[in-house]
Amino acid sequence: FLKNKGLESTILVPNDFPKFLKWMPDAKKVVIAEYKRKKAGEAIYNANVIFCLDFNSAARIGILGDWLTKSWATKILIDHHQQPEDFDYIYSDVTIPATSQMVYHFIEALGEENLVDENVASCLYTGIMTDTGGFRFRSTSATTHRITANLIEKGANPTAISSDTWDTNSVSRLHLLSLVLARIEMVKDGKAAILYLKRDELKEFGYQKGDTEGFVNYGLSIAGAQVAVLFIEDLYQDFIKISFRSKDEVDVNQFARKHFNGGGHINAAGGRYDKTIEETIADFKEFIEEEEF
Ligand code: 5GP
Repeated sequence: FLKNKGLESTILVPNDFPKFLKWMPDAKKVVIAEYKRKKAGEAIYNANVIFCLDFNSAARIGILGDWLTKSWATKILIDHHQQPEDFDYIYSDVTIPATSQMVYHFIEALGEENLVDENVASCLYTGIMTDTGGFRFRSTSATTHRITANLIEKGANPTAISSDTWDTNSVSRLHLLSLVLARIEMVKDGKAAILYLKRDELKEFGYQKGDTEGFVNYGLSIAGAQVAVLFIEDLYQDFIKISFRSKDEVDVNQFARKHFNGGGHINAAGGRYDKTIEETIADFKEFIEEEEF
């Protein structure tokens, strides 16, 4: 969109993004800071304006966070996570299911929907589709669908986009999934599902970034489950990465903040913990029993 507006721009991400998004228009031009530090640093140093999308705290974007904080550029936040930090301009709305929907609202507010071409439409469609879990999550609204309809009219192809994004399983990912599913444990009278993966297992199945995406949702698909949690041993360091998902009013953002150094949304949050996986799961079981739902 910025390119179509005649502006020079660089897309920066802190870490590599999952393989299933590599098909996206201009994905190859995205500067991944963990691989191209210098280029990423220069882009921030030279920027007049930095749009901060889909995160609301400098701590969430790795090495980019430090540079962002030091930069003189005007920082504009467009994001839907809870409890934003301070930015020069803040467009934060936790009731909107996808940051891509907010980007569309931003473009609408500029009155420049005419600059949304097929590529822009495909990217925004993908963002809305993935952030809403395929138009399923709670804050998916009539407005979300109206915008999606506009994007289809502007050239986004729902069949191709879903297939390019979701029909990308490798056999090893499915084997990893079968391992996780085979040992789901239910606690709290069947209201919480626990899934986990160990480092050695990730290695054995040739883990690649993005391979475990969506696994936690299987826990939530169990009848009666209100919470699902996936614990994964980090491949390189001694900590556990945690993904939480929940239904209705059960607030995993608060839960992750309180117990697991994390945060996110009411129904989708994450965190990290510095104990072994066995200790982490044992602590989770205690904490979840204390919650009322
Ligand atoms: P996921 O489980 O997909 O990694 O993350 C779910 C949501 O929680 C995402 O919106 C993500 O931004 C947020 N999230 C994941 N990990 C953390 C964390 O460690 N801290 C905070 N504040 N948010 C997180």
